[in-house]
Amino acid sequence: MNAKIRAIAKRIKDYNTIVISRHVGPDPDAIASQIALRDAIRLRYPSKNVYAVGTPVSKFKSYGTLDKINDEKLDNSLLFVLDCPNISRVDGVKLENFTEVIKIDHHPFEDKMGEIEWVDTEASSTCEMITEFLISARFRANRSIAENLFIGVVADSDRFLFSSPGGKTLELMSILIKNSKIDISTVYPRLYLRPLNEVKFQAYITEHLKVTASGFASLKIDKKIIDKYKVDAGTASNLVNNFNNIKEILCWALVSYDEKLQMHKINIRSRGPAINEVASKFNGGGHAHASGARLKTQKEIDKLFKELDKTCKEYKKQQKDLQE
Ligand code: AMP
Repeated sequence: MNAKIRAIAKRIKDYNTIVISRHVGPDPDAIASQIALRDAIRLRYPSKNVYAVGTPVSKFKSYGTLDKINDEKLDNSLLFVLDCPNISRVDGVKLENFTEVIKIDHHPFEDKMGEIEWVDTEASSTCEMITEFLISARFRANRSIAENLFIGVVADSDRFLFSSPGGKTLELMSILIKNSKIDISTVYPRLYLRPLNEVKFQAYITEHLKVTASGFASLKIDKKIIDKYKVDAGTASNLVNNFNNIKEILCWALVSYDEKLQMHKINIRSRGPAINEVASKFNGGGHAHASGARLKTQKEIDKLFKELDKTCKEYKKQQKDLQE
């Protein structure tokens, strides 16, 4: 058992009130990891008060129900922040309301939140790290916990396209499946079954992507189109992962409007150059090959796109130089 896992298991044992949070605008890895950890702690320690918090998302309700807590100081309490590197994007809680904060995350380190920070950028997902924790610290994963963890790993690793070095992701999933006896074929539809209008909407995006000579592709999706295809702005964001492995495209970005935040949400992906440093200059951040940003004006979006295009151009040149 690694030292971080041992320390985390000890803190879980010591605290009676445990709250588990994650980033705003959750994806399957964020939601699944927090619900799986909550349920595994409840299974091991039925008398502890354990809550998974944050804004509920209706399309993720099959993962489990989230809990509500009051916005006040909690005595002798432990907060977990999962899948979130920066304090400003923690959903639903104030860090100062808790006695201790533990971060578990696979994003590059950004803000220090507490004494124990288990950050593993080689892990495919936070669900992979929670799986490792549960197996090493001998917490039981029942069927729904194991299904949630498997779904989070599948979603963030893009069906095992990205995996931790040495096959660790697959090794952990093998143990998880063996121990909990889940049938993975029944789990996939929760991620991949989708309505025809969404597939048509994806065809619209494919048809209208603007691709530069350097291999940067982008599309701004306005409300008229969203309404025409009867999808929502969240669908536009989620579809960004479906444009990988296109020969002419190295890096791509979709822009949709977040009505709640009154800001443009930009989802950026790359199959070559690292993009998170560019994103972090534009009120964003993320992983080397999957980042996001939130911007107010078209002018800022144009500037971001210009930099991403430049990044593609430089990357292409580097690759060419390496070959010569
Ligand atoms: P998304 O395109 O929303 O799936 O986000 C891809 C990655 O970028 C995730 O790891 C997010 O945590 C990160 N990310 C997205 N938006 C932002 C933002 N505004 N600031 C920092 N990181 C972000």
